[in-house]
Amino acid sequence: MRFSPLLEQLVESLRCLPGVGPKTAQRMALQLLTRGRENGKSLARHLTLAMEQIGHCQDCRIFSESTHCEICLATHRDASLLCVVENPADVTAIELTGCYRGKYFVLLGRLSPLDGIGPEEIGIAKLKTLLENGNIREVILATNPTVEGEATAHYISELAKQFAIKTTRIAYGIPIGSELEHTDIGTLSHALTGRDVI
Ligand code: ZN
Repeated sequence: MRFSPLLEQLVESLRCLPGVGPKTAQRMALQLLTRGRENGKSLARHLTLAMEQIGHCQDCRIFSESTHCEICLATHRDASLLCVVENPADVTAIELTGCYRGKYFVLLGRLSPLDGIGPEEIGIAKLKTLLENGNIREVILATNPTVEGEATAHYISELAKQFAIKTTRIAYGIPIGSELEHTDIGTLSHALTGRDVI
């Protein structure tokens, strides 16, 4: 049996969410209509507002409702340090550590030629302008330790070299509280290679 046209459209629209297949989308739609109409209306309202009003910070590309985000506007932060991350969630994670007081650049992805994601898609032109014009003395590469993340870090380090800017890569390490015998070989070999003086 087919549902009404509007319900069919709702189910189809919900499928754009990550990890939501046809069955889950159907369950979500029916749940909202059966017992969550107010929540559904609130969701629709906030979804529309977010889609229409959230843009990107002109400097770091993080999602922002104004031309510049709070971090880029903060005068107490060290503008000579630029931490490059893949996603806005990475900024949140680093901010939670309380250990970093520099600025960020958010790629909103990573180089992945097979998926058609090249330098243009991850804002390299904007990053190049920042490196050219800014007073950046160090670029911290905090892309993920995946094949694509490493390739992206390498690409950006080559770019920074053109402007004689120092680049550093976040360290790989053994998770705090874990044991060596349970650490995967890749992490352990990186931890040994990148060992530091104490
Ligand atoms: Zn910003």
